[in-house]
Amino acid sequence: MTVDKGFATRAIHHGYNPQDHDGALTPPIHMTSTFAFEDAEAGGEMFAGEREGYFYSRIANPTCVLLEKRMATLEAGEAGLATASGMGAITSVFWSLISSGDEVIVDKTLYGCTFAFLTHGLTRFGVKVTVVDMTDPANLQDAINDQTKVVYFETPANPNNRLIDIAQISNIAHQVNAKVVVDNTYATPVLTRPLEHGADIVVHSATKYLGGHGDLVAGMVIGSHEDIANIRLVGVKDMTGAVMAPMTAMLVMRGLKTLSLRVAQHCKSATQIAAALEQHPAVVKVYHPSLDSFEQKALAMRQMSNFGGMIPFEVVGGKEGGITFMNRLSMIQRAVSLGDAESLIQHPASMTHSTYTPEERAQHGIGEGLIRLSVGLENVEDILADLMTALDAHETVLV
Ligand SMILES: *Cc1c(COP(=O)(O)O)cnc(C)c1O
Repeated sequence: MTVDKGFATRAIHHGYNPQDHDGALTPPIHMTSTFAFEDAEAGGEMFAGEREGYFYSRIANPTCVLLEKRMATLEAGEAGLATASGMGAITSVFWSLISSGDEVIVDKTLYGCTFAFLTHGLTRFGVKVTVVDMTDPANLQDAINDQTKVVYFETPANPNNRLIDIAQISNIAHQVNAKVVVDNTYATPVLTRPLEHGADIVVHSATKYLGGHGDLVAGMVIGSHEDIANIRLVGVKDMTGAVMAPMTAMLVMRGLKTLSLRVAQHCKSATQIAAALEQHPAVVKVYHPSLDSFEQKALAMRQMSNFGGMIPFEVVGGKEGGITFMNRLSMIQRAVSLGDAESLIQHPASMTHSTYTPEERAQHGIGEGLIRLSVGLENVEDILADLMTALDAHETVLV
């Protein structure tokens, strides 16, 4: 596709001309469930797909469609689809692409509810779900076969920031014509555009960085016209009904206007905080791609334009140590979700990833002591001061 304007410009202007809407600078919100047909024949023709137009907001709504076009251009895709949540996006994709008897191959580290949907949910419907460690693409090469219909992963993965090489995995998956689906929630299209590396479909929890203000729950799917039409008409319209509300679409578009600015600041602060955490004696391990100690730093440099705003780390004392440390923080809020202006901290094993059994967490490399910090947009000195005060107290108790 041709792109004539920069990323931030498209995030602000793409697909909208105020002169088409009484000069309104910001797009109107189309708060309507249904659309009146000029005559009965027109309705029939639209339902038959012979004529363009809106007919019911579970299928399409103009405010949502504007957001869909913006996300498509930002992710370098042909088309987008707005959904009620990240899980609405993910489940709609699978219900559209998979039948019983098919196989899905997924990476080891997945967001807790994605993991639950696949391994505890989809498997009840005769779908085979195979888990491999995709940080080594050879593992996928060994596993793929003619049954494999979807290859699915996150990069960076939630919660531990493991990275997957999108281009290498896509090459292998395409040998058997499997669709490559990437959850790009952590990186956002500011840092990585998976479709440019060979993936077929991108999914997002727009609840996180895209919305960016902690005031909504939403999801997005981006891909080819053909795939998006299929997911819209099967996964969303019929199988899940997980449509985004027009008001939410407006809020996500407001978030997109500052996405590149916000992500740049999240990354800048996170890089500084990761370095400081790594120096502290009460910290055992920090997993941030900016650090020389990060095993996959070379891949991060190749595939991401910056290192991201999420910092998983472990403090001395394992799970109990982590809980004590979190309770000592005063500004940083103890909450799940991520990508907000507020810095948020949580304990994956008891919160976002409690959908795994302890054995599954051990197999999937999600440490019981891991803490996950979403670096916010506060002054970095204040975030650091809160962390360092709690870490200093931690150290004193240990000695
Ligand atoms: C939060 C999250 C989801 C789920 O999104 P919801 O909007 O909460 O439904 C999926 N993937 C990742 C990586 C997430 O962080």
